[in-house]
Amino acid sequence: MFNSSASFKTAELKDHVSIWNECLKAIKPNVTQMTFNTWFLPIIPLELTDSLLKVQLPSQFFWEWIDEHYNTLITKTIHEILGGEAKLAYVINEEEEPAETKYSLDNAKHALSADSPLVEEKKQEFESYLNPRYSFDNFIKGEGNQLARAAASAISDNPGGTSFNPLFVYGGVGLGKTHLIQAIGNKILNNFPDKKVIYLSTDIFTVEFVEAIQSNKVNEFSNFYRNMDVLIIDDIQFLIGKEKTQDLFFHIFNTLHQSQKQIILSSDKPPKDLKGLDDRLISRFQWGLTADIQPPDLETRIAILKRKAEDYGMTISGEILEYIASSITSNIRELEGCLIKLLANASLSSKEINLDLAKKTVKEIATDRKINITIENITKTVCSFLNIDENKIRDKTRKKEIVLARQIAMYLSKDLTKSSLKTIGLHFGGRDHSTVIHACTTIEEFQQTDKSLRELLSSLKTKIELSST
Ligand code: ADP
Ligand code: MG
Repeated sequence: MFNSSASFKTAELKDHVSIWNECLKAIKPNVTQMTFNTWFLPIIPLELTDSLLKVQLPSQFFWEWIDEHYNTLITKTIHEILGGEAKLAYVINEEEEPAETKYSLDNAKHALSADSPLVEEKKQEFESYLNPRYSFDNFIKGEGNQLARAAASAISDNPGGTSFNPLFVYGGVGLGKTHLIQAIGNKILNNFPDKKVIYLSTDIFTVEFVEAIQSNKVNEFSNFYRNMDVLIIDDIQFLIGKEKTQDLFFHIFNTLHQSQKQIILSSDKPPKDLKGLDDRLISRFQWGLTADIQPPDLETRIAILKRKAEDYGMTISGEILEYIASSITSNIRELEGCLIKLLANASLSSKEINLDLAKKTVKEIATDRKINITIENITKTVCSFLNIDENKIRDKTRKKEIVLARQIAMYLSKDLTKSSLKTIGLHFGGRDHSTVIHACTTIEEFQQTDKSLRELLSSLKTKIELSST
């Protein structure tokens, strides 16, 4: 008692900076260098009045982390240095303004004892990665997307509060999954500007996670996502084969779900068909609502084309719209691509948009489908998917998994590009065309009996098509 009031007296003679430096000195031996640099050095002392020390933290997330992990240590330290009566007030720096001008009486209201620091709830600044182009307004309704769209709309008005948690949207390439799940994010931000909404593809999530591992920041990474109100992850099928990322995602999922935060996922197939994904995840994906998006019928395709044409400021006759919509049937991205190409063809040849030009354009689209996909792209995708060094696929290695990867890449090159057998062989370390034929027949045969190979090929195709448009 005596001791602490004595130290309190000396403290009074000191300013906030030297007091905080003393605290840092006391804290340092109790934590690792990394923790100290990450969580304590960024704290800025602002002011000391009586036994109240005000410090500034860089973000809400930062505060939550500190509160959860170092509250006891900080309380103990503050009491040692400033006395048992000492209190700590946190101010969160959300804007770029200098700390001093930000501090106000309002913040002071939140000054509590260091035992239970409280800060003003404020929205954290970060990039949501949502593309504002995707809205409900320009998402055309159709039979094929009815359920998914209705659920998406319900969620936008009540994120985390419906039984559609998670919302799991699945369907083929170019059918509007990304559009729909981003529309939810945009609408939620519009309805509830304070909600923390983030959208990202599974690939970006995985890359960020790997970077976090390399820089020793897995906890920060995980906590960042656990702190979201709405987490939207696209193409979740790409978690297959990534055990560590799956494991981390499992924990993030649980935290968010338990605290009734909204989770929205998309995939190219329903959860039960995501072979190779942790069973715990598959079962969780089915907790909420699983909704498919089916290819649009002719009527919907015409409506979509009409809307897109309007958006581009084009006037196109009903006959031409119908022709395009009947020719391109399985992919809305291609429908859109056809319109853009039609517009380009018309302006290049300074011709009117007529049926002949539409026919020519539709033909070109069919050829583009193959031209856009390159052997390089296929090789890259196969290697990254199977975790194989790209150089190995080209050299002489006869290791089983490399041979298989090479054969798969050759097979897909034959299937998805217009390249000759000779060209394909050259791309894989100058191999003979007969080697390519052998690879293709081997994969063909395997496929007949091996369901997991079929699924692997289908995932790879999706990925290649996605990265080639
Ligand atoms: P996916 O993620 O399923 O591969 P996208 O969401 O990327 O497909 O959709 C491909 C393109 O088609 C996008 O430009 C999107 O805006 C458009 N699109 C898809 N569905 C619709 C729809 N129902 N109404 C309007 N545009 C759509
Ligand atoms: Mg998509």
